[in-house]
Amino acid sequence: MIHIAFDHSYARDLPGAWQAAQPDMPPAPALLFWNAELADELGLDTAQASAAELARLFSGASLPPGAQPIAQAYAGHQFGGLSPSLGDGRALLLGEVIDRHGQRRDIALKGSGRTAFSRRGDGKAVVGPMLRELILGEAMQALGIPTTRALAVVATGEAVQRERQLPGAVLTRVAASHLRVGTFQYFAIHGESETLKKLADYTIARHYPELANQDHRYLSLLSAVAERQAELIARWMHAGFIHGVMNTDNMALSGETIDFGPCAFMDAHHPDTVFSSIDHTGRYAYGNQPAIAQWNLARFAETLLPLIAPDDPGSAVPAATEIIEGFANRYQTHWLDQARRKFGLLDAKASDKQLLQDWLALLAAYGVDHTLAWRYLADEAEGKPDRLAALFPSASVLEPWLKQWQNRHVPRTRRPPDIAAAMRRENPLYIPRNHLVEEALTAASEHGDMGPTLTLLEALSQPFNEREGLERYALPAAPEVAEGYRTFCGT
Ligand code: AMP
Ligand code: MG
Repeated sequence: MIHIAFDHSYARDLPGAWQAAQPDMPPAPALLFWNAELADELGLDTAQASAAELARLFSGASLPPGAQPIAQAYAGHQFGGLSPSLGDGRALLLGEVIDRHGQRRDIALKGSGRTAFSRRGDGKAVVGPMLRELILGEAMQALGIPTTRALAVVATGEAVQRERQLPGAVLTRVAASHLRVGTFQYFAIHGESETLKKLADYTIARHYPELANQDHRYLSLLSAVAERQAELIARWMHAGFIHGVMNTDNMALSGETIDFGPCAFMDAHHPDTVFSSIDHTGRYAYGNQPAIAQWNLARFAETLLPLIAPDDPGSAVPAATEIIEGFANRYQTHWLDQARRKFGLLDAKASDKQLLQDWLALLAAYGVDHTLAWRYLADEAEGKPDRLAALFPSASVLEPWLKQWQNRHVPRTRRPPDIAAAMRRENPLYIPRNHLVEEALTAASEHGDMGPTLTLLEALSQPFNEREGLERYALPAAPEVAEGYRTFCGT
């Protein structure tokens, strides 16, 4: 029997913010994926555990000793409309562990059955979407983007009713925490000011301990969360990542990417790109993500007003507003800093913003593959124009911009191969291409074949390293395949 040194600080410190619940008994748990590297990072002594044992432990069949499953309460603005009571309708926090780096991490099941927050849902999850969460999470991790990760995916052996019957699965999620903007909204809406204050202090202690003794710590919390979101969203934008459901319950206060539902990476660059089948108005389109993050932060700020100024919450509005309005600048700073590294630049110039905007406008105008355009720009640093030029209808449409980018590298302080190598460390070759993700999910879900998922994970584990034999993992789908690609919510 494996031993996990669980702690339960959330349950202990925040009574009233959760409901105890038990997972359902899966009829025939079978391990689809085990993240040995993450298990090691968490310090779990699972090296000796059999696949069958891991499948039982991480599906709810027999919980690891010390687990105290709870469903967390939260609210959330979903597509702009407020749902005052959401909460974990199909997830259970088993507890927290301290990882090898001394960081507290949540271990939670997703798809383990109904809870007090399930409303009309069945509390279940199915193989396809859980493998999507696994693949996208591992890709983000390898790209250096803060993210929750999957420790395990277990097929339950149960048929789950969706638009048709699909194989059920439970994913074990590891997160810096599951504290969300929606967690604060829940207690603000229900007028539970005591719990709200405890929640804010808990969030500070867990994610922003440097603020703990500040006089204006709740205002500082807003500022610190805004800063992490600014950096995170800038990374999403450069990676071409579209979250798909940036509801306030899906924005983590830790600054990790969380709740991979209908998320996807875009191929052809365009600000209006939307994949989610439920995002009819394009609220969460690629180009809207920074503005939506700011909107979500404004909802977070509203919950903090009574903590910032308990006697007169209204008096806190100007200071909070200043932070929310300042998000645009914070975002732009990260976006430009990250772009300079992608461009192979070591210093900053005011003209860089125009250079970046012009580049992205070119990609959008000609529907150029976002990932390959950045990647092949590195070739240009070595004087090899062919691969980049081939992405455009003709080399001449790119030429004026390329001249500017080349001039920006004068005077050159590094050798061309060094610039190219540095750029290749910033611009990935392998991202989870939609058609490859779909192929992997279909093989696993329809044919019980995990092969394509494992090969894809292998390619994505070193996104910056071009490797022989992985050519098809670098290429976008044919336009007729990419056209009309839709992702569906992870229910
Ligand atoms: P999501 O869109 O996955 O972030 O989920 C939004 C809300 O719906 C959360 O409160 C979930 O717990 C809940 N939910 C999603 N799917 C289910 C399901 N199959 N059964 C019960 N609740 C669900
Ligand atoms: Mg969610």
